[in-house]
Amino acid sequence: MEQTPSRDYLYFFPKETMFPGQQEAMDKIHEALTNKQIFFFEGAPGTGKTLSALAPALGVAMERNKTVVIATPNHQQMEQFVNEAKGIKKKTGIDVVVLKRKALTCPKVNEDNELKDDDDFKDNCSILKENTDKFYKDQKKHAKLKICRYYLNSLNPGRDNLDKFKAWYFSDVRRPEELLKWGIEHKFCGYEFLKLYVNEADLLVCNYRHILDPHVFIYILKLLKKEPEDLIVIFDEAHNIESHARDYISEKLSEDTVERGIKEIREFEEVLDKDAEKNPNQEKTENFLSITRKTMVAVYEKRLKIKNVDRVSSDWMNIRIVDPEVSLDQRIDKFWILYSENLKAAGIQDLPEIIEVTKEFGKIVQAKLRKPSRCISVARFMSAYRERVKSPDYYPIMSVRSEKGNKNNLHGRLELYNLFPKIVTGPLFQSLYGAVLMSATLQPFDILKTILDIKRDTSYHLSPLLYPKNNRLTIAVPIPALFSKNRDNPESIRAVTQVLDDIIESSDGNVLIFFQNYREAVKYKKRFKCKVSVFINEKGKSAQAPKEDFFKTGESGNKSVLISYLWGPLAEGVDFKDARGRIVVIVGVPYPHLDDKMLAVQTAYEAEFGNGWEYAFGIPTIRKVRQAVGRVVRSPDDYGIRILLDERYSPESPRYFKRYSVVGKFPCEESAEIIEVKPDCVKGVIMNFFKDHRRIKT
Ligand code: SF4
Repeated sequence: MEQTPSRDYLYFFPKETMFPGQQEAMDKIHEALTNKQIFFFEGAPGTGKTLSALAPALGVAMERNKTVVIATPNHQQMEQFVNEAKGIKKKTGIDVVVLKRKALTCPKVNEDNELKDDDDFKDNCSILKENTDKFYKDQKKHAKLKICRYYLNSLNPGRDNLDKFKAWYFSDVRRPEELLKWGIEHKFCGYEFLKLYVNEADLLVCNYRHILDPHVFIYILKLLKKEPEDLIVIFDEAHNIESHARDYISEKLSEDTVERGIKEIREFEEVLDKDAEKNPNQEKTENFLSITRKTMVAVYEKRLKIKNVDRVSSDWMNIRIVDPEVSLDQRIDKFWILYSENLKAAGIQDLPEIIEVTKEFGKIVQAKLRKPSRCISVARFMSAYRERVKSPDYYPIMSVRSEKGNKNNLHGRLELYNLFPKIVTGPLFQSLYGAVLMSATLQPFDILKTILDIKRDTSYHLSPLLYPKNNRLTIAVPIPALFSKNRDNPESIRAVTQVLDDIIESSDGNVLIFFQNYREAVKYKKRFKCKVSVFINEKGKSAQAPKEDFFKTGESGNKSVLISYLWGPLAEGVDFKDARGRIVVIVGVPYPHLDDKMLAVQTAYEAEFGNGWEYAFGIPTIRKVRQAVGRVVRSPDDYGIRILLDERYSPESPRYFKRYSVVGKFPCEESAEIIEVKPDCVKGVIMNFFKDHRRIKT
């Protein structure tokens, strides 16, 4: 006889009703977490994934004295988590802590022009705190130090204030903005107060960095007073774990940082007493920084002679210093060779020694100038470079860009680009009590497991798309394949424009179009014949305004077009529900730009897993298309059309395009829904679809 699973965890489910299939998903997650597994959970938007994961996770956590953490890579999702957590809090009274960037809770940023919410915030806050600690101990001696009054007040706030804060904070689920407001009103650093109570949280809502950046994760564990095995972590949009972990552990050093290091040595000299003895390490440090900068400049200038300086813009352009397609033992690092020669020529034989000297001198400069020392940043980066230059886990690369497009004002950057995020995710997943990885596009699970190096027992659940089938239509339109070499071909441009015009004209509402890259999006912006507003999500600018304008037009019963690019900010995590988006079009197959970093990942994956192209390009591309396709038709009552525009989506394409065909790479149930429609028939198919829906509505 089949056993009925224990459903005590439903205590943490705050809704009156469930989505179809939600109970089954929760039972499976509960069982998996009870067995300390890692659970893969793929489901369409609007199927209640967050609560399906949270309720059983909280149930297991309560039984076994664990803490639940839910992490997201984007802010929009965090807002949704806060709302779900509020529902659970109302029903059960659990204590919830929400962490975002510390700067968002800092009252001093609001009032002090010198303290900004930028890359230096963390260092600047630490220095202010150090100064304030000294001032607190001896006000007379340290009267001139720049301090933080909010932190000062928080050093000895009194029991009463702490109790009041705790009662206020845990009486609801508090957003970081509310904590900021509380700090301003009460003249305390709310973050310092919150730190004292994070360990009392039953549920922590945070972002990916809190878990996937190893340094930050250690700090979070300290706040929670827990070990990794005390945590059940739910990752939202978990198909992003690989790329985000890679970003967090890649390291960069900009020429600007080195210049600022050199400048700060001059500043240090100026504030020294005239008759103070010169620090013997000052000259050595300055020399070391100058050689580092000189080598960076020499490398990119030499390379630009070949690559042409006119190609440099305000976006970073890669400068190859190591061939990305050779194996590790054949790597020749042009930066490192020249750097070693330059150091030697300057009489620096012992690199570790000069790195230590620079760090020590940087500490003296930092104390004197009371701001974070760039000398220390340079020393730390060069120390990491020295250790990793021959590591299979990193690929060294340079890049260059011009200041505001001025070709005479170039800036370089050195980077240790991470190739294997598994060096972080492997130990992480091994050490957690359990985890749920959820997304609408996780498959194939076995490859995800390999790439993240998950060695634990896993199980999975696929939430079937239970929305009515005739509310959606997915069509593949076989226009000539848009390989980069064909994209500017007049025939291709004509074919794409013609189909897009037909789509826009025949659509009943808003049309969202994703191109392979930003250049393509710009190219088509002015080509449409149809007289409707065309918004574009400009690269490097916030997508908020065009997105809002697009939503407004659709929701007011009119039609507009929003054009964007697949690897931009609108292709995932944004809800184009109902009239916000009736048609989504994917133009071409959006393989990521084949730059040196991606080639290095492919080479490394080929050597490690044996299928570099598929793992590095093929699978992420299909996930990206599936994410973009999923922007429209967001609930059972919503309806819309998804259009794939390229012959590589057509059933016949494997015969002609071999591995570049994408047929058979979508999950079976999604492939089965794709219908091929010839370009001439697109208009009729779209009109019929909307006509049917108008008839159903009336
Ligand atoms: S201690 Fe608190 S209030 Fe002061 S700068 Fe840091 S975060 Fe801001």
